[in-house]
Amino acid sequence: MNEQKIATLVRELLTEIGEDPQREGLRDTPKRVAAAMTFLTSGYRADIHRVINNAIFTQSTNSMVIVKNIEVYSLCEHHMLPFFGRCHIGYIPNGKVFGVSKLARLVDMYARRLQLQERLTEQISQEIMSSIDADGVGVMIEARHLCMMMRGVEKQNSMMVTSSVLGMFRESTATREEFLALIGTRHE
Ligand SMILES: [Zn+2]
Repeated sequence: MNEQKIATLVRELLTEIGEDPQREGLRDTPKRVAAAMTFLTSGYRADIHRVINNAIFTQSTNSMVIVKNIEVYSLCEHHMLPFFGRCHIGYIPNGKVFGVSKLARLVDMYARRLQLQERLTEQISQEIMSSIDADGVGVMIEARHLCMMMRGVEKQNSMMVTSSVLGMFRESTATREEFLALIGTRHE
């Protein structure tokens, strides 16, 4: 990514919204925004195989594995404003399991790009399914979208919930119910 170019664009943006990019508080802003955007979109440039490398372990168990409350921070592709919340993952292994921290990194990798919450949820479930050849995967994301909260549409408390279920999670009601019970989603 060309951070110099992004900084130039941000300087133009500041002028267009009526600001003075030369004033003290804004002088380094274009550079900081460029660095922040590079980080927040680093998922485009990450290599999934390196992200999950060495983090898949052989294990004979085939009972459900649950990882709850993984923090999610992403940018909506419609407004480039943040949406954030929590991701819950469940899967039924078929000989292989994930190191826990790697699931969080996998979530980050797909979250750090312009996203739709629905697509993010699906990409996570499909990646888990294919990388460990699981018997089933369930992913649920609960998130708040600043594009809804900040723009005066009076939906400040709304939470968007998306889920994606594959394999046994799709086929078996009992499995799906076990997943929902185990993640015990809390709603404020
Ligand atoms: Zn939006």
